[in-house]
Amino acid sequence: MTAHPAIVWFRRDLRLADNPALAAALNNHRRIVPVYIHAPDEEAPWAPGAASRWWLQHSLTALDARLREHGSGLVIRHGRTLETLRQLIAETGANAVHWNRLYEPATIARDTEVKEALRAEGTAAHSHNAALLFEPWSLTTQSGGPYRVFTPFWKACLRQGLPEQGEALSEIPPETLLPSAAHSAALDTLGLLPTIPWDAGFNDHWQPGEAGAWNMLREFLDHAGARYAKDRDRPGQRSTSRLSPHLHFGEIGPRQIVHAVRARQAADARPGAHASLDSLLRELGWREFSHHLLYHFPHTPATALDERFARFAWRRDDADLLAAWQRGRTGIPLVDAGMRELWHTGWMHNRVRMVVASFLTKNLLLPWQDGARWFWDTLVDADLANNTQGWQWTTGCGADAAPYFRVFNPVLQSRKFDPDGVYLRRWLPELACLPDTALHAPWEAPEHVLRSARVRLGSDYPRPIVELRASRQRALDAYARIRVMP
Ligand code: FAD
Repeated sequence: MTAHPAIVWFRRDLRLADNPALAAALNNHRRIVPVYIHAPDEEAPWAPGAASRWWLQHSLTALDARLREHGSGLVIRHGRTLETLRQLIAETGANAVHWNRLYEPATIARDTEVKEALRAEGTAAHSHNAALLFEPWSLTTQSGGPYRVFTPFWKACLRQGLPEQGEALSEIPPETLLPSAAHSAALDTLGLLPTIPWDAGFNDHWQPGEAGAWNMLREFLDHAGARYAKDRDRPGQRSTSRLSPHLHFGEIGPRQIVHAVRARQAADARPGAHASLDSLLRELGWREFSHHLLYHFPHTPATALDERFARFAWRRDDADLLAAWQRGRTGIPLVDAGMRELWHTGWMHNRVRMVVASFLTKNLLLPWQDGARWFWDTLVDADLANNTQGWQWTTGCGADAAPYFRVFNPVLQSRKFDPDGVYLRRWLPELACLPDTALHAPWEAPEHVLRSARVRLGSDYPRPIVELRASRQRALDAYARIRVMP
């Protein structure tokens, strides 16, 4: 135990429990300085988008409040990270900096530079794992390379055994946080909140912060966990955990989720409940796999893993089509409902993400990068690893991707996964009076059905901006052309 304080550099690990950087600092130092440094330029070109900045503002507020309960708030700074840490070291006399690792290419480069510089200057610099069950370099195929296929990757994870809980840290000892030794910028000066009131609805859906993450997990385990495997594809139901933004910002860690799931499995003897929760863990496995891919193939946020896609004939000239997709005005109900859910809540159901991504890249033939960028700006859970993998998977250009000929038919998907139209009616009130038979493809409905539901296609709701069958064939033809390339 040293008398010098340690700096705990919070990043996307905005929690006190299961936080190895915080736990290690508290093990070795009598006092700590908790700090968050706002340096979006260092994350370019993937600095947080607008919805993520909204989340960050509220998550930092929540973390600050938790830390204050223990004697001192979060020190907030704005500026280049290395210089800011040096200043803080000079101001507080700290002789060590602890943080938890992140895996985006720009962040890895920045953190490596910070670690080397601090160590060269005589400050201990330690990084830890808070975000993943298995860090990307800890699993390799039999030939020693990275995995490119999910199932063997997940089997390797299960063979190793999923780690649980992590460093439990429910209480910070009194007097360990350094009050007022370092001045803090006001959170509002970071300019995180949007300037237009587009985020007005977010508060109804989310509670950023550690307590919100645990409320979400408990609600899921109590009400949806046992039927997750069966219902997880139904966007009209509250059937998935909605933990994605909490996981992205590290308000809860995957080891804590594994622990809670295992405890629930032990306690819930209902048939199917155990297997259902296993499928949630498998989805966490996709999150691990995405991080594995991003780490080993760091060019993939910009470029397809399948190199043949460099020659793919994307349409690059149609801003109107992209705008119609972004605003939920394509005339295809499931696509429009998803894009409006995203705009109003900052989140979209996974099944619908696949459908809207397939529609953009296949039916509209617009580049997947345009869709990924829009998601980046509008998702509260925007995550470089998961978003890149999700877009490349759906497009058919990534690792373990859906085959190129799989073009989701949004009408069949809608009838299958939202048969009673709960989801469509929630997000498309202008179609709410249509009967189920007409709701999923209103352009096929007889005129008298539209009239009695007071729907005028072309004015109340758009006609389809593209014909589904012909555009599917056009996509297949374009894919066929790159398939035969060397
Ligand atoms: P649950 O079904 O409850 O799953 C639990 C957790 O497992 C999630 O919170 C998430 O962390 C992880 N997970 C679930 N499905 C996936 C998946 N397919 N890939 C990776 N991790 C997964 N997820 C993001 O977190 N951020 C993104 O930016 C993102 N962009 C996507 C883009 C596209 C085109 C697609 C098809 C998927 C994307 N996903 C992304 C994955 C997935 O849609 C979300 O993780 C999921 O919908 C979040 O809801 P949930 O927390 O209720 O998930």
